[in-house]
Amino acid sequence: MIAAPKPPYDELVAAWKALRRTHGLRVREVACVGAPRTLLVAEAGADHRPTINLSAGMHGDEPAAPWALLSIVTDRLLDENYAYRIWPCINPSGYVAGTRANAEGHDVNRSFSRGGQTPESRAIVTANRDRRFAMSIDLHEDYEAAGFYGFEPLAPGARPRFVAAAVAAVEAAGLPIQDLADVSFDLGSPPEARACQTIGHGTVTVDAREESRYFSDGLTMSLFLLRQTAAVGLTFETPLGRPWNDRIAMHRIAVTTAIALVE
Ligand SMILES: [Zn+2]
Repeated sequence: MIAAPKPPYDELVAAWKALRRTHGLRVREVACVGAPRTLLVAEAGADHRPTINLSAGMHGDEPAAPWALLSIVTDRLLDENYAYRIWPCINPSGYVAGTRANAEGHDVNRSFSRGGQTPESRAIVTANRDRRFAMSIDLHEDYEAAGFYGFEPLAPGARPRFVAAAVAAVEAAGLPIQDLADVSFDLGSPPEARACQTIGHGTVTVDAREESRYFSDGLTMSLFLLRQTAAVGLTFETPLGRPWNDRIAMHRIAVTTAIALVE
């Protein structure tokens, strides 16, 4: 498909760095060992507060997600009762090229096993070592989708608490929700993984332990974080074919709704 127009990566970096001055954000770049690139990481809020991990740009051809995350912070939509670790664009070489994969051709979101199997995931795993998160949210887009949907992986015995509320809030704002009942709709996970997924209205809840078996070659970041650190690891997906501002609005509503439900 033809890549949609998007602002350049340098503009995204400059916008985040500008928040140091206006928002007191701590923004730095971490090295990607073995690759000629760095990842932006931003920290907000007092260290003693429970921390929420936010990320976007894992797939370089899903450009509204990083800009949605930037707008959430810029517009001060984050609940100040939490601290935040933010990965504004996890796959900058993919963003620049407009590709799902990184410059080496790897899907970063299948590389979170064994300490990280891509330069990007290694940088994140290393930086997140010894951190614990109250929640983690990863923002994506889906070129096949016509509406918003989200994933909520669950620890054994846990009940879903977040994704249905996020979907309901997006819908209440008059924005479309993806119909997931059609099994031909590709959720991006291996077909066998369907067995451990429960489909609702714009929601996919997943038995995380079961699903991890289908990603034995390389975990997604959400599954990795759920094992290592985060009590809740949500993934939100916006429809690439919708207008840019709708996609930004969907992520803003979903993220703020989910964070409001953290206990
Ligand atoms: Zn994606």
